[in-house]
Amino acid sequence: MQPQGRASGATLTEEATQRQPAASAAESAAGIAAPPFPDADLMYIVDLLPPEEQFRYQEVRDFLQSRVRAASIDYWNREEFPFGLVAELGKYGLGGLQTDGTSKLFKGLMYVELARADVSLSALVGIHNELIVGMIDQLGSEEQKARWLPGLTALTQIGAFALTEPEHGSDIAGGLATTARLDGGEWVINGAKRWIGAGTIADFAVVWARDVADQQIKGFIVETDRPGYTATKIANKIGLRIMQNADIVLDEVRIPKANLLPGATDFSKANELLRDSRAWVGWQAAGIQLAAFDVARSYSLERKQFGKELARFQLIQQQLAEILGNASASLSLMAQLARIQEDGQLEMVQAAMAKSTTTRLARASVAMGRSLMGGNGISSDYEMGKLFGDAEILYTYEGSYEINSLIVARAVTGKSAFV
Ligand SMILES: Cc1cc2nc3c(=O)[nH]c(=O)nc-3n(C[C@H](O)[C@H](O)[C@H](O)COP(=O)(O)OP(=O)(O)OC[C@H]3O[C@@H](n4cnc5c(N)ncnc54)[C@H](O)[C@@H]3O)c2cc1C
Repeated sequence: MQPQGRASGATLTEEATQRQPAASAAESAAGIAAPPFPDADLMYIVDLLPPEEQFRYQEVRDFLQSRVRAASIDYWNREEFPFGLVAELGKYGLGGLQTDGTSKLFKGLMYVELARADVSLSALVGIHNELIVGMIDQLGSEEQKARWLPGLTALTQIGAFALTEPEHGSDIAGGLATTARLDGGEWVINGAKRWIGAGTIADFAVVWARDVADQQIKGFIVETDRPGYTATKIANKIGLRIMQNADIVLDEVRIPKANLLPGATDFSKANELLRDSRAWVGWQAAGIQLAAFDVARSYSLERKQFGKELARFQLIQQQLAEILGNASASLSLMAQLARIQEDGQLEMVQAAMAKSTTTRLARASVAMGRSLMGGNGISSDYEMGKLFGDAEILYTYEGSYEINSLIVARAVTGKSAFV
């Protein structure tokens, strides 16, 4: 449980070594008591977990707040991948959330707390579990599972999910242009992928390519050291700067026949996992809003203008209430989504609605948080600038806000407005 307060003028990076549970040393020195409702979980969502998961949740949350949150800022500024932090995430079991039998709510709350500490790392862990471990576990052969799952679940190995292309984003399902052709005992892959998370550091990529024989979109495990595979980091992103997104070129890349995912011989199975990963972004959106609330509240309790704390001004109070309301609405929506997911009732329409709604709210929440902090809201050193940029990615990836809205409206009208 972290009150996340800071002495005026001290950035989170400067305070990294002093952070304590309850009132921090800096807060005590500044005479600031821990605020009420330090967890900001006003709807008691965490209480829905069974006791053993509540215990594990608290342990991971403490680690993320004390170790990852402050440390991530410098990595974010430098667009650098924190290999050491990722290894520590692995020790807390965050690479195995897909297969360790924990509840959907617990998994979702892990994504919330990851995003509350650092959105890039929540993206890494989310894609890893939902789209890499999930794909291999559910669509892979026994040999593929034995080869990859132990390292993946320990987070000592990382995969990339390579679907989007330079010329096809929103229309990827119909437009996908990367090809696969069977040549004797090998598949030969040709094409280009864009925006692929962890593309420069991954051990392998799950590459989606169209089989020239039957025109079906299929999933292939392509080891990144295969001749013809090149990945170039996309630099100067305004958000998710820790995640190493890449442009990938596949030039006559030859892989064994056995690298085809046997459950991914058309796009329908992958679509089920993409539905779940849409829902995962909803958890991220709830987490980023809790982070925005944490940062905005502590800043408003410390920063004085006109002789009193910002928190005493009505307009500031309204913004804090709105950020917390948005965060609580998002978290409550996601908790109910976890329930229907647990019951096997989750469909694309609910996942798309959760994704579009929570990311819309997240964008509004970080914009309020940014303006509430005045000039310091611009600097990533005060965290809010980092959240502000990261929210833009949540709004766009896993299907843009517009595309997810179109999916919802198509489902409830029976009319497609895509084209
Ligand atoms: C940081 C980051 C990380 C990513 N990570 C991955 C990854 O790991 N793996 C991966 O495969 N992909 C990844 N992506 C890709 C992401 O999923 C796409 O960016 C997204 O689907 C949008 O595609 P696009 O960028 O090509 O935009 P476009 O499809 O070109 O869309 C541009 C704009 O047009 C709108 N638009 C498009 N079609 C319509 C329509 N019919 N009606 C109304 N509006 C429309 C869109 O909503 C958007 O606002 C990532 C993207 C980013 C930015």
